Amino acid sequence: MQSFGKKLIFLGGGHAHLHALARIDAFMLRGVEVTLVAPGPFWYSGMGPGLFSGTYEKEDDTVDLRALVERQGGRFLEDRVVKIRPRENEIVTAGGETLPYDVLSLNIGSGVPAESLQHKEGQGEEAKEPADRDADSRVVRVKPVKNFLKLREQIKTGRLGADPENPARILVIGGGAAGCETAANARALFNRLGRQAEISLVSSADRLLPELPKRAGRLLEKFCARNGIDVTLGVRVADLRDGEAVFEGGGASISFDLALLATGVRPAPLLSKSGLETDDTGAMLVDAHLRSVSHPNVFGGGDGIQLQDHPIARVGVYAVRQGPILCHNLLAILEKQPLEVFEPQENYLLILNLGDGTGLLSWRGLILRSSLAFRLKDHIDRKFMRTYQQAASAVDGQ
Ligand SMILES: Cc1cc2nc3c(=O)[nH]c(=O)nc-3n(C[C@H](O)[C@H](O)[C@H](O)COP(=O)(O)OP(=O)(O)OC[C@H]3O[C@@H](n4cnc5c(N)ncnc54)[C@H](O)[C@@H]3O)c2cc1C
Repeated sequence: MQSFGKKLIFLGGGHAHLHALARIDAFMLRGVEVTLVAPGPFWYSGMGPGLFSGTYEKEDDTVDLRALVERQGGRFLEDRVVKIRPRENEIVTAGGETLPYDVLSLNIGSGVPAESLQHKEGQGEEAKEPADRDADSRVVRVKPVKNFLKLREQIKTGRLGADPENPARILVIGGGAAGCETAANARALFNRLGRQAEISLVSSADRLLPELPKRAGRLLEKFCARNGIDVTLGVRVADLRDGEAVFEGGGASISFDLALLATGVRPAPLLSKSGLETDDTGAMLVDAHLRSVSHPNVFGGGDGIQLQDHPIARVGVYAVRQGPILCHNLLAILEKQPLEVFEPQENYLLILNLGDGTGLLSWRGLILRSSLAFRLKDHIDRKFMRTYQQAASAVDGQ
């Protein structure tokens, strides 16, 4: 068998890897040694804002990757990778292990970069995700998703907004889908806790949800007005300092007790520093087979890659759709079989969770806000998660 004794490493347990991780036994059957290096469980981004408001709990939003991998005979290494050395075919973990590979698959996602604002806390800690560094301060990034849960618990057990005379001042920076969902779910959380909050949403764009048709932005603005979310458009926050967000150009500023950064994401710097060919955002460039254009034994999916000939948006929908192609191609490269092509679909369903039991749906130009839209999202998300949660908890032989 061509693949016998070969080493396959999955780096990162994100949306694009889940499909393959649930099929590790197919690799094991062919004698491939499989290792997953990931810092913890899988967190599903689609339910992230709902974690914040309290619609979901950790058990709803996570998959136990250790259980998923180990029950099929693979190795799960709970660690972060700090170096990728594609010339030497090895990776190095924060824990000090150097792991050689024959084939590497990358799915380490993206984060809200520090450079997006002059907010410079804790820089230089390569081994940690940026958001981990901010979680105890007044500035929190909307990625990784687990931040939402940590923050909710901090708010619940703290005094923020508990005194009716002193409403919590919550500032969300970024008016795209993630920022709008975050602001809406912040409102839902404070309502649920019976606490007072002044919520502000600031965006440098001239409308909310600029990535969606105009009607979506209008519906969202109406939602914000009705729910006491103060929207400021066309201003860029340049600096966050001592509870003060200073706008570009100086002069105006907003005070906050808690600022949530949803200013857009970028792939981890680890990729561009590795020698793998990357685009100008630092995403590994891949061909239509999801294969690195510079290193043919490296594949990848999700926010950390970009298709060389057909740039796509950084959304979980694409990462999930890449999963089966990535799985097929990893098996195929090990067995010297033909690779499959990933064809990104033009249209995809997007439903924002507005935290009040309604969702804002966008599908092929159709935009609507309704409780049915949220129920549809909830159904799709729970079904998706159940598949992998069950795979992780299934007893061998069942
Ligand atoms: C608030 C919010 C809501 C969103 N909602 C939606 C939505 O409803 N629909 C949608 O399509 N998209 C949504 N997105 C976009 C979506 O989050 C991303 O496109 C998606 O998470 C990308 O998945 P991924 O597999 O690339 O990365 P992830 O799922 O983030 O996985 C990356 C994994 O790699 C691990 N990792 C990172 N660095 C290392 C390292 N050095 N070593 C080892 N492991 C590492 C991480 O811990 C993580 O487990 C949302 C984004 C945000 C911020």
